[in-house]
Amino acid sequence: MATKETAAVGVDLGGTSVKVGLVDSKGKIVRKAVLDTYAEEGPDRVVKQIKKGIHEVLKPGGYKIKGIGIGSPGVVQLKDGIVENPPNFPGWTKVKLGKKIIEEFKLASFVDNDANAAAIGELIFGAGKKFDSFIMITLGTGVGGGIVLDKKLFRGSHGFAGEIGHGSIDYAGPQCKCGSYGCIETYAGNNYLTARVKDALLQREDSLITRIMREEQIPLTPKLISRAMEAGDEFAISVVDDLGRKLGYSFANVANILDVTNFVVGGGVAGFGKRLFTAMEAGMKERVGKSLKSLCKIVPAKLKNEAGILGASALVYYKYN
Ligand SMILES: [Zn+2]
Repeated sequence: MATKETAAVGVDLGGTSVKVGLVDSKGKIVRKAVLDTYAEEGPDRVVKQIKKGIHEVLKPGGYKIKGIGIGSPGVVQLKDGIVENPPNFPGWTKVKLGKKIIEEFKLASFVDNDANAAAIGELIFGAGKKFDSFIMITLGTGVGGGIVLDKKLFRGSHGFAGEIGHGSIDYAGPQCKCGSYGCIETYAGNNYLTARVKDALLQREDSLITRIMREEQIPLTPKLISRAMEAGDEFAISVVDDLGRKLGYSFANVANILDVTNFVVGGGVAGFGKRLFTAMEAGMKERVGKSLKSLCKIVPAKLKNEAGILGASALVYYKYN
């Protein structure tokens, strides 16, 4: 009889949907289930949905299951798989998610913060495979960060390491929801970015962005900025160049402290493509220490749309200390 192939379950827990995948050891999703999270109905219902999704991908059998990985928003206590106060999950204080999953499935289970899962995903299956050390940046509503040093995720003394989004690049900059000023998130976070562009557009009535919004009756989104940039709109190009440069400055701060010069960048805004990457590299080289200048390397993340599931499943393949 042929030996069964190994696979791991990856659960991407989001505020609106729970995405569950069965992932083989090469990082291919062989089965997938997407369910509503029902976050507003409280933690018991959410846990029920997670279990349901896992049963769905396991039921057909055929694989030797190595374990279950869950990427969750909020703060995660690794040891017991406790998820604390995930944003947008009402009624949720501390939930022993890992324990509940182990009891149900009798399989090794790992719960980690979704930003850490993204970094581990790139380390095991993606663009981080070729680096010993790298910084993972995820551009979305926030600016997420994960630090990988010598193939190990660095968590810091209290598990809060990697909050690169709240590193300030201007002490007199706009106030961030964290209370500080000029955090890179206040420039690159989706909502902050679109709000700033909207303001600037009042002076730039001639921009293609304004024209498309008016003609197609669509709201301003990073995607629309990207579209105008690709069509050669000068204002949209300047927005992307400026954003890239600022991100590069924040990368330089990190590189100067850690002497890590490899950056893997993923998430929606990374859809600005080559132009953004060129600007990030220019910004980083402008501000990083002399001896690091020629070593700066910024590459796009490899795990695109399925990064959540793949990152979560990678928690199972990752070797914990
Ligand atoms: Zn902040």
